[in-house]
Amino acid sequence: MADSLRIAVLAERATGETRVALSPETARKFIALGAVVAIERGAGLKAAVSDAEYEAAGAEVGDAAAVVQGADIVLGVQGPDLELLSGTNPGAWIVAGLDPFGQRPRIDAYAAAGYEALAMEFMPRITRAQSMDILSSQSNLSGYKAVIEAANAYGRAFPMMMTAAGTVSAARCFVMGVGVAGLQAIATARRLGAQVSATDVRSATKEQILSLGAKPVFVESVAGIEGEGAGGYATEMSEEYQKAQAELVSAHIAKQDIVITTALIPGRAAPRLVTDAQIASMKPGSVIFDLAVAQGGNVEGSVADRQVEIHGVKVVGWSNTPAHLAADASALYARNLYNFLSAFWDKEQGRPVLDAEIGDAVRLTKDGKIVSERLQ
Ligand code: NAD
Repeated sequence: MADSLRIAVLAERATGETRVALSPETARKFIALGAVVAIERGAGLKAAVSDAEYEAAGAEVGDAAAVVQGADIVLGVQGPDLELLSGTNPGAWIVAGLDPFGQRPRIDAYAAAGYEALAMEFMPRITRAQSMDILSSQSNLSGYKAVIEAANAYGRAFPMMMTAAGTVSAARCFVMGVGVAGLQAIATARRLGAQVSATDVRSATKEQILSLGAKPVFVESVAGIEGEGAGGYATEMSEEYQKAQAELVSAHIAKQDIVITTALIPGRAAPRLVTDAQIASMKPGSVIFDLAVAQGGNVEGSVADRQVEIHGVKVVGWSNTPAHLAADASALYARNLYNFLSAFWDKEQGRPVLDAEIGDAVRLTKDGKIVSERLQ
């Protein structure tokens, strides 16, 4: 029988990254599959997981160089720099959110060094891959946190309150972009007692908005995207649609207290949904949370990791929203990685063997070359 597969997990080094790619639970499960699991000392601390918990789960805890020594698979939240990987086995897998479009030089370096880099954000949106989808698990938490942060920055209350001293009226919250993050933002704002409305370019979201007790606000004069589109993602809209959308938003946004924007187009800059003039039409003290700020921003003037005041409106957005809920984000992320690798576990070989549908979608590099179609 071959040596046990070695899975290594490093502490994340990117600024502001608080998550960790392994939980004690997934360490235990990988070990149950027959793997050896090693994690860098202190890797879980910012996500509230101690070294002792990993040790109790059966993982080795050590310094970075010892952890990666002889590793067959390296797990990360973000992609590790090449220098950290020396000593790994030839052709080792790098499994992480590799940001393939944003970190191209690093991907090229993985290819040149012979690694097999697997980008978890390229997981296809098919039913059997749902439990492996890091974009969904992290976006869901981000949608929640955006509303909590907006509520915190807002100098008024979300729910209607009838008190002896008078009535506080409910906040009006508008969610733009109703994917995974937007749906959770709607649900969270509703739980807090806001009056919620929402918009998207995909007409399939209308039902979902209604089912969460919110009001759909849609462009009716120009066709949007019917159904779920390619893999459930949006594409860039026609100029005519964008104009109709801008008019609709202008009429609606002036009456809103809270705006949460979540619109993304894969591989592209985020669409601009809120202009400076539209911000100026809002009441002072209103709050906008731009969840797309790191992808270029849905909101004119939003700045990552800063609260800026534009025409008296507070505009907030973070470069890494899931990192603001490190414990839950890490636990779900770690489970996504486990669900992915364990689904393909080959008992004979004692390691995962990917199929074409999922393997070819996530694989960026192999045998010294870039192999992903999306990166050609
Ligand atoms: P996303 O993060 O790429 O985009 C967020 C939302 O912004 C989307 O709903 C998109 O339609 C919307 N948007 C884009 N441009 C816009 C514009 N100009 N104006 C308004 N809205 C705009 O999307 P997502 O959250 O990753 O999910 C997209 C879809 O994929 C959802 O329907 C989701 O249910 C589906 N999904 C399926 C699976 C699966 O089957 N495995 C997994 C995850 C998500």
